[in-house]
Amino acid sequence: MTVSKVVITDWGFPSLEPEQTVFRGHDVDLVPHQCKTEDEVAAVVADADVVMAQWAPVRAKAIGAMKRCKGIVRYGIGVDNIDLEAAQKRGIPVRNVPDYCLDEVADHTIAMMLALQRQVITVAERVKKGTWSITPPLNFPPLRESVLGLVGFGRIARLVGRRARAFGMKVVAYDPAVAEKEMDESGVEAVPLNDLLGIADVVSLHCPLTDSTRHMINRSTLARMKPLTLLVNTSRGGLVDLNAVVDALREGRLAGAALDVFETEPLPQNHPFLSLPGALATSHIAWFSSASVGQLQKRAAEQALDLLRS
Ligand code: NAD
Repeated sequence: MTVSKVVITDWGFPSLEPEQTVFRGHDVDLVPHQCKTEDEVAAVVADADVVMAQWAPVRAKAIGAMKRCKGIVRYGIGVDNIDLEAAQKRGIPVRNVPDYCLDEVADHTIAMMLALQRQVITVAERVKKGTWSITPPLNFPPLRESVLGLVGFGRIARLVGRRARAFGMKVVAYDPAVAEKEMDESGVEAVPLNDLLGIADVVSLHCPLTDSTRHMINRSTLARMKPLTLLVNTSRGGLVDLNAVVDALREGRLAGAALDVFETEPLPQNHPFLSLPGALATSHIAWFSSASVGQLQKRAAEQALDLLRS
């Protein structure tokens, strides 16, 4: 019987036990690597029957090096590290794991919004430094009188919207692929992006990173926001022009930004964003819970097995 080769380009899990469990009894040779560059990926995928990638760039050169690949599986929801056009040209299907960690990301989005809006971090730091004042630095409205603007109304945004409505927030959303009626049924008002930016007290990003969404939050879109607006991004760092956000925070044109994702990860420790009072950074952890890691690995391996059988 022929043994199929599944190449893992890179991985950051405690072990590969979940994958091994899925592949057991299926004549799969699982070959893990820790590639960081496209050249490193290109050097290990030539004889792969299926390629599984977490963060490594699987771009045109690497895809061109694949001689018999039946498919590429991205460990995660976003597929922006894979060149979809190059894969399509070669007829290589690309799969992701679309339905894991949705609650975790929605919870993290709300956690970041609350931390900024209730000024948890700034006041906690102030208390540690010996300042005790019963009024916080900024004068935000109550959540029940605030508007949450969701950019993208896919799986995660819908869960964020439901949670925000429980706090009494009005929720508006912009998503060119979702019908107004569908938003209406979720108690969410469909609005054009420009209107959203002008009325939202909190703008939260939930769309994929593509050529058309890259730097969608930039100097010009930031200028449309009200000065006390908060920005939350748990989606992809490339959606935001971070330099423009830093300037807007410095100049008081944006009250706060809570970002879990960055165009360059890890975010350099000396990045100016980290020294600003309204800035809150987490290290791309929105996806994580004790349950989501194993689910991701198991479902990614099941996708790989399915591709091997195709
Ligand atoms: P999804 O595919 O269910 O929804 C994305 C939505 O964005 C779609 O409805 C789509 O129509 C919409 N969209 C596309 N282009 C748009 C545009 N220009 N303007 C507005 N909307 C647009 O995806 P999801 O599961 O909700 O995930 C959302 C994002 O979260 C993904 O980009 C994913 O990479 C990211 N994510 C991050 C983490 C993390 O750990 N931080 C974890 C999981 C997912």
